[in-house]
Amino acid sequence: MREYDISVIKGDGIGPEIVREAVKVLETAGKKFGFHLDLTDIYLGGASIDKFGVPLTEETVETAKKSDAVLMGSIGGDAKTSPWYRLEPSKRPEAGLLGIRKALGLFANLRPAWLYDELKSACPLKEEAADKGFDLLIMRELTGGLYFGKRQTLVQDGQLVATDTLTYSESEIRRIAVKAFDIARKRRNKVTLVDKANVLDSSRLWRKVTSEVAEGYPDVTYSWMLVDNCAMQLVRDPSQFDVVLTENMFGDILSDEASMITGSIGMLPSASLNETKFGLYEPSHGSAPDIAGKDIANPLATILSAAMLLRYSLDEDEAADAVEEAVRKVLKDGYRTGDIYTEGTTKVGTRQMGDLVAERV
Ligand code: NAD
Repeated sequence: MREYDISVIKGDGIGPEIVREAVKVLETAGKKFGFHLDLTDIYLGGASIDKFGVPLTEETVETAKKSDAVLMGSIGGDAKTSPWYRLEPSKRPEAGLLGIRKALGLFANLRPAWLYDELKSACPLKEEAADKGFDLLIMRELTGGLYFGKRQTLVQDGQLVATDTLTYSESEIRRIAVKAFDIARKRRNKVTLVDKANVLDSSRLWRKVTSEVAEGYPDVTYSWMLVDNCAMQLVRDPSQFDVVLTENMFGDILSDEASMITGSIGMLPSASLNETKFGLYEPSHGSAPDIAGKDIANPLATILSAAMLLRYSLDEDEAADAVEEAVRKVLKDGYRTGDIYTEGTTKVGTRQMGDLVAERV
């Protein structure tokens, strides 16, 4: 039997409820497809502050590093009421998240966005675009570019002048480009590089390096698009995209745009990968402290994150397909949590939604 070590961060707010359901589905998939998961709980964010006084410990990093992948619920609390936010910024829950991403070298962020037939009514796009459907993946560089460049604010000629810098090296671009092409081979064999190469030197380097990488993948269709055009195309006809590869800031903006057009935040998984197959998998939404502990949170984004874990870190593609198909069937059978409920469907809680998916795996 194939054995895998998985670290589990239950997280804060709705985290423990949604992770419990994702684990249930993973274990069911393991039984069906012949693998066993060795699960170890580790702590991050608010839960780690409560237990150890800090949002991230060395032990959490070490255990995570030794495992094949990390499954995580969201972290953080209500900034207005939670005592975690009376701590200095470097001791708050979010500092733990940035810290673990850095410690694990997670440079590639994957945010898929697709439209389920059953949830089309929530899609804000024009009917003709929604009818075509879409299934795309934004692959965003996570550790370089404008957010990590040198910055300063100075007084010059009697006024404030602020500067940010956007730097990328060939190696930073090459490692994520390789990931994008590898992942495209697990999807529909298409990569679109999104940049601003008509203006920026850094974008021209992205094109040069990515084009070189593309030569090694003759089976993958490669093209590029300017970021302003991509922002328009995402709302005009998102069906044209498969893997969208882009730098940090463009990816930050485009991945939020891509989630918006699905119309359902409770459905969106994400993954952050390093150079090996290792990754951290979490829903795209936050810890929703407003609905924590009420058995009403939608666990599907976390369950779909677990499917990504199976596909990208464990190469258990068949099990990943089965989990994604089970989610589709549950929706087709008319079950909905409150956030995606519409008249004529059956409203279920977090736990029951997890059971329904597990039954269909
Ligand atoms: P949020 O995503 O937690 O919630 C926004 C709204 O969506 C809320 O009304 C919430 O009830 C609803 N919602 C979110 N997920 C849902 C689900 N699975 N099912 C049903 N409804 C859901 O965003 P927020 O309120 O801005 O942030 C809350 C906390 O989460 C903050 O501490 C924030 O820092 C943190 N956060 C963490 C991550 C992460 O861990 N990666 C990401 C975003 C926000």
